[in-house]
Amino acid sequence: MPTYHIWTLGCQMNVADSLKLASGLDRIGWSESPDEGSADLFVINTCSVRQHAEDRAYGRLHQLRQQRQRGEQFQIAVMGCMVGPKTDDLQRRFPWVDVWARPQEYDPILTAAGVARDASEGEFWTETYGRPSGPTAYVPVVHGCDKFCTYCIVPLRRGRERSRPAAEVLDEVRYLAAHGVREVTLLGQTVEAYGHDLDEGADLATLFEGIEAIDGIVRTRFLTSYPKDMTDRIIDAVADLPKVCEHFNIPVQSGDDAMLERMRRGYTVAEYEERVEYIRKQMPHASLATDIIVGCPGETDEEFANTVALLERIEFDVIHVAAYSPRPGTFAYRKQVDDVPREVKRERLHVIEELHARSSSAINRQALGRQVEVLVEREQDGRSTGRTRGGQLVHFAGTGLVGQLVDVAVDEVTAWSLHGRLAGDLTLAVI
Ligand code: SF4
Repeated sequence: MPTYHIWTLGCQMNVADSLKLASGLDRIGWSESPDEGSADLFVINTCSVRQHAEDRAYGRLHQLRQQRQRGEQFQIAVMGCMVGPKTDDLQRRFPWVDVWARPQEYDPILTAAGVARDASEGEFWTETYGRPSGPTAYVPVVHGCDKFCTYCIVPLRRGRERSRPAAEVLDEVRYLAAHGVREVTLLGQTVEAYGHDLDEGADLATLFEGIEAIDGIVRTRFLTSYPKDMTDRIIDAVADLPKVCEHFNIPVQSGDDAMLERMRRGYTVAEYEERVEYIRKQMPHASLATDIIVGCPGETDEEFANTVALLERIEFDVIHVAAYSPRPGTFAYRKQVDDVPREVKRERLHVIEELHARSSSAINRQALGRQVEVLVEREQDGRSTGRTRGGQLVHFAGTGLVGQLVDVAVDEVTAWSLHGRLAGDLTLAVI
């Protein structure tokens, strides 16, 4: 039986795409190689959002070429965000790669795997669901992005927004539930854009409602949010529907209006804060995560200070921060000057990381002495790990509980996780 190995870089969308490709290869009789060095087909699922991720893919491609030069026989496929509509330049730079496949375009890989054409036609991919590997699973619901932020390569590589029909999404969730999944995370680059391009009138809240009725699923998550697409209806559905976790991942990227304008984010700081206020009005205990990019073209000290001030005002549970790196092909790469010195970017990164560690510690301390509901995701060496509804990582002693919702009494916290013990008949506050 021929074998494959998929090496995945980047975001949850890539993880979901890799699982789907793996299921497709399984369906045509291939199997996953337990040892990546002996696979007949090596697939790299790439990320182009930062230079660092591309450099890792390049490094791996050069290693694979050396393996080939030593006489090892296998095919190499590259998929994901590194692959745009034109591959001439990539083919010139990496002539030893056998197949290039754009995000969600799996057919060239099947063709390289020697599949007869008709096997990849019809409903093959719509009926191929990512193979679940535990009690949680990602479900892409809208592909691509229409926002065209100046620094971002995603719309150029993943194309315009395309929503999957609601019935197809719900079928996939039913399949996952039947295979042991308890929590699904609905994915989109801007997930609340779901349904804009469908005639059926569905939106993200429609999917939430549909999943409420699916037995076996106990939690629904969603990411990534875009403030201008977050309607009251969607926020109200999160507040009202018991399975939907009140956890929002809403990248703000900067706390300064001029900087947001240069990024073409499409909203002001006030508009962003208004959405956060509405969420907190409907769900005072909602947890909030955000993304920040420091050192974008022209970012002044004052603009950066405004970002810090915003983060202090909102007190996010989680802050993902990255330093700007120009991505070829983007508007920022072509028209803006990468003029913030590297050491300034590093300092700003450090300031945000410190702020995050402080705020996250303070938030986690609130859980001390309390009881939290955890969906157990994995176990190792006598300990189990899972997450709260708000996304906090929880570790506790005990095994045999993967896939179950349990209550954990928290007696120790760090900036990044909670530690505790299974709650027996303790009478503690549940958060
Ligand atoms: S919203 Fe902006 S940053 Fe996010 S994927 Fe779309 S273009 Fe990129």
